[in-house]
Amino acid sequence: MRRQNDAPYRRQAARPGSPVRGWARSLDAVWWHSGTRSVRAALAGTAALLLPVDCVCCGRPDAVLCPQCARKMRTSCLHPHRVEDRAESLPLNTVGLPLPVICAGSYDHELAAVVLAFKNHQMPSLAGILAPSLARAVLAALASLVDPGRPVVLVPMPTRLRAKAKRGYFPVGLLLARLRRSGVLPQGVEMAQLLRYRMGNQLVSAQKGKGRRERSSTRQSMKVSNTPVLQQFRLCGAQVILVDDVLTTGATLAEAHRALGGTGLLVCGAVVVAATPAPSEKHAVR
Ligand SMILES: [Zn+2]
Repeated sequence: MRRQNDAPYRRQAARPGSPVRGWARSLDAVWWHSGTRSVRAALAGTAALLLPVDCVCCGRPDAVLCPQCARKMRTSCLHPHRVEDRAESLPLNTVGLPLPVICAGSYDHELAAVVLAFKNHQMPSLAGILAPSLARAVLAALASLVDPGRPVVLVPMPTRLRAKAKRGYFPVGLLLARLRRSGVLPQGVEMAQLLRYRMGNQLVSAQKGKGRRERSSTRQSMKVSNTPVLQQFRLCGAQVILVDDVLTTGATLAEAHRALGGTGLLVCGAVVVAATPAPSEKHAVR
């Protein structure tokens, strides 16, 4: 059980003659009494036993992500970079270049552990830790991939019903909602869930663990909802930046690009939280 140094939070003792109200002085006396402090410490210890949390990276107790691992994760995401050369299934433009993709960091070490826990281990509280890294990547994409004179819409990759039912939340949507609330995005940048999976594909599991042939089932699996919001974006010539959590082969982004192709919106690129290393770098992953 840890003893916390709570002296800075204590109310200073009233000087003689000071007009401190009697009930406040009594409450302070009870709160800081040695017996009360022992009871509080015991309750805190019981709570830690009933709802124990360990760092998702190193296993240290008492925090979902310990300060050391949080610092390493933030450091690994300081420099968002282009990763389209790692993914063989990304759509190509008219001159054969793949869709530009910017990642916050590589999918290894602390970042991989945090993303995995956020997506698959029901830890939505990690959104607050990942959101600043995603924000840095989104700002890099806005600075380099779009025409600054036209509006931009961030479009998250949809989630399947099975995955959403299992998790109870939509990871990419949660991250984008945090970005919107933080006010970090410039004027003229909107967010909209324009894509969804077709009904027949709603129960298909995600890409993880699938081979190249099975991943091709992603084709024709998404559709665009023809809503007034879409019409509005089309009329103002909005540019689209796709947003996803992890880039592997790029098949999901390619399918989103295909689905948006018929809407008249221009897909300028994509942003991901993490990109799996290229095959030549995979020996470095732990
Ligand atoms: Zn740790």
